[in-house]
Amino acid sequence: MPPPRDADDTPARKQYLEIKARYPGVILFFRMGDFYETFDADAELVARELEIALTSRPQGRNGRIPLAGFPYHAVDGYLAKLIGKGYRVAICDQLEDAKLAKGVVQRGVVRVVTPGTLVEPQLLDSRRNNYLAAYAPGPDRCGIAYIDITTSEFAVTQLPPDRALAELERLGAAEVLVPKSDETPPDLSSGLVTPVEPDWFHQRDGRERVMRHFGVSTLEAFGCDRLPLATAAAGAILAYLAVTQPPALAQVTRMSTYSTEQWIELDMQTRRNLELFQRSREATAQGSLLSVLDQTKTPMGARLLRRRMERPLKELAPLEQRLDGVQAFFEGHLLRAEARKLLGSVPDLERLVNRVRGGIALPRDLLALRVGLSAIPTLKEAMARHGVAERCAWLSDGLHASPETCDLIAAAIADDPPAAFDQGGVIRKGYSTELDDLRERAGTAKEAILGLERRERERTGIRSLKVGFNRVFGYYIEVSNTHRELVPDDYHRKQTLVGAERFFTPELKDWETSILNGQEQALDLERELFRQVCGQIVAGSEALLSSAAALAVIDVAAGLAEVAVANRYVRPSLATSTELRITAGRHPVVELALGDGSFVPNDTTLDTAECQIALITGPNMAGKSTYLRQVALITLMAQVGSFVPASSATVGLVDRIFTRIGAQDDLATGQSTFMVEMVETASILHHATPRSLVILDEIGRGTSTYDGISIAQAVVEYLHNQPAVAAKTLFATHYHELTSLAGYLPRVHNFTFSVTEDQGQVVFLRRILPGAADRSYGIHVARLAGLPEAVSKRAEEVLHTLESQATAAPEGGRPRRKPPASAQLALLPSDDGLSAELLALEPDTMTPLEALNRLYQLKQRAERLAQR
Ligand code: ADP
Repeated sequence: MPPPRDADDTPARKQYLEIKARYPGVILFFRMGDFYETFDADAELVARELEIALTSRPQGRNGRIPLAGFPYHAVDGYLAKLIGKGYRVAICDQLEDAKLAKGVVQRGVVRVVTPGTLVEPQLLDSRRNNYLAAYAPGPDRCGIAYIDITTSEFAVTQLPPDRALAELERLGAAEVLVPKSDETPPDLSSGLVTPVEPDWFHQRDGRERVMRHFGVSTLEAFGCDRLPLATAAAGAILAYLAVTQPPALAQVTRMSTYSTEQWIELDMQTRRNLELFQRSREATAQGSLLSVLDQTKTPMGARLLRRRMERPLKELAPLEQRLDGVQAFFEGHLLRAEARKLLGSVPDLERLVNRVRGGIALPRDLLALRVGLSAIPTLKEAMARHGVAERCAWLSDGLHASPETCDLIAAAIADDPPAAFDQGGVIRKGYSTELDDLRERAGTAKEAILGLERRERERTGIRSLKVGFNRVFGYYIEVSNTHRELVPDDYHRKQTLVGAERFFTPELKDWETSILNGQEQALDLERELFRQVCGQIVAGSEALLSSAAALAVIDVAAGLAEVAVANRYVRPSLATSTELRITAGRHPVVELALGDGSFVPNDTTLDTAECQIALITGPNMAGKSTYLRQVALITLMAQVGSFVPASSATVGLVDRIFTRIGAQDDLATGQSTFMVEMVETASILHHATPRSLVILDEIGRGTSTYDGISIAQAVVEYLHNQPAVAAKTLFATHYHELTSLAGYLPRVHNFTFSVTEDQGQVVFLRRILPGAADRSYGIHVARLAGLPEAVSKRAEEVLHTLESQATAAPEGGRPRRKPPASAQLALLPSDDGLSAELLALEPDTMTPLEALNRLYQLKQRAERLAQR
């Protein structure tokens, strides 16, 4: 509801209401003198969210209006809070000097600050990109565009609706523009959804807007001339920036079209289950895979690593190249140390260059830029000296030292410039004779004033007379009241203090004018010179951005090498087959959390021909979940281009990784655990391919035992028997009944986590072995967890009774689950010495013919047994 207008409104109030009406849904910070004020509903909201005082001021006949404000210099902190809470804020400044204004001061909105359009370094996380995305929905295709205005990355894509939301989730944009409509906007797990004018998404207008922006007559070169929804989304982004952040448009000089086909698709569940970017229970990065892998030294490197982890590759060649890079730094210990030390001195070159391009760079930004650039020649030299330039030329190819830019900044900017312009002293002495002259003149005048002080003391005989300066009154001669009678007649009174009077003389006034004029001219000139320097830097900024990108690549390679050396990782050998062979694999996060080298490594062999599905049983706490995730993480790390925690690993590149971890309540969305579990399982069964990796942990747990076992069994059978979805699968379950599946599904193999008992206590060995668990040890684990001894004892009794009842299941009573006919073999009470005979075999010493004969014999005996 807009606040009522009133005939008695003051002009300022009228102006406020007018501007406010132009920015619906946005909080308006209205500059009044040294304060930003908010009014009406904004004031109530701001007072509540920022915990500042809510006051009111009288207004016409309507009584009073709510008001909340704060000093202008505190704006950054308050902005950060509001943006962090998902609000949008329009900054309305005074556009003219209040002293010179006739009538009400002219005001206007200079910027709308939204989560997706932030440029302030103090409001941004330097280690991740800050994306503004636009989502153009369509019936059979959707368009997505995204931009990071702090780095100029701008890209578009078009894809089927069922993949569009996943792509938006992957981007993790801070803000997503959608056309305003009656339909509910997409439900994203993070980021602010901003509905905007549907016109902004108009396909033809959008296309034209994009072409006009880049000054082209076809979008062919951008690769999206036939992707109308992608360009519509791009158009919406440009339209939004034009309103919220016009200067940023100048930075948008590139746009690329991408396809999600080249990346492994990671759905939300998988990202969360594998704890790639944050621990599932905490919102921090600590304990995530990223936190282990990110040893980068620069913000550009950190952002690149994160992007790569968000989009693991499916193609061999680029991954081998990345791995070559890591290996170069892995083997070159000296180079790594040297490079990382240099990188440590490199600031956020990418965002700095963009601040220069956007016209918002400050003097100190240019100094930082120079520091960053000056590391480049040394880095290049080190890489050449250690032979990396030959082995991986692409690593240092993009690095340009840009000596002209360095020299320009060195010549133009003072060594320790002030944070802002109003003090002067930004431009180095000697850079501009005109500026030096102006400064000299001001210097002469200052000296003259000092001389004047000396002379006036002598002339008046007042020893304590002094010349001073203050911002409001300018230069003055101060005489304390005790000497008032000695003040000469040519002194003009300027200001009266408690114990003193301040005066000026015509001579002092003249010097003051020349100082102030000189200073003002010097300041103007400094600003102008600074602008020119920035302009020259912008002209060469493509080379700077290319260097920034190259530094990021080097930083990631050196960082991953550092991690690999510190944690004893190996280079994975990548394959286009479906095999996955890991020797002594470890979980990268858990092994560090244990910290003491007590992590037990385990092997993995999976492929679609022999062991497609590993069915893993073992008691709770045995290490099943850890193992499952470890296999998925090793695969993922390999496809990000990282070394992996194992003593060796062959990774057949996968197209998708699915994970389903059972029995997690999704209270947030209000769905029952079981429903969520089944929806996710269904999605896996619909989308998996023989090149996928599927991780299923305890599925079917959210329902009754019999239901659970039946569903779990059917799922395994389906994955095994449907060639189209025959993905490599790790299936962990505590239903040891399921192990009979291996008896009739040839590519299902049983594994178990070994456990021993020591004086009635379970000891977990954390080692995976072929075979099936014989029992679930639940009561032992409960005892370990501290259940009172009486309860554990009683549970054992109950279990015993249940087990004996189950074996003697009466006719008509609830039967034990009837095993499938072909699986009966495994359930026979006695195998008639068959296993003893098997154990006695020594395959290594047999000829193939002997082996085959023995196999036939054994099979015949087994068949006879089964018929009994
Ligand atoms: P499960 O899924 O079988 O219930 P988890 O995978 O959750 O078991 O592991 C239980 C505990 O054992 C975890 O706290 C983990 O730290 C530890 N653990 C798991 N695997 C290993 C291992 N290979 N070496 C050492 N400790 C492990």
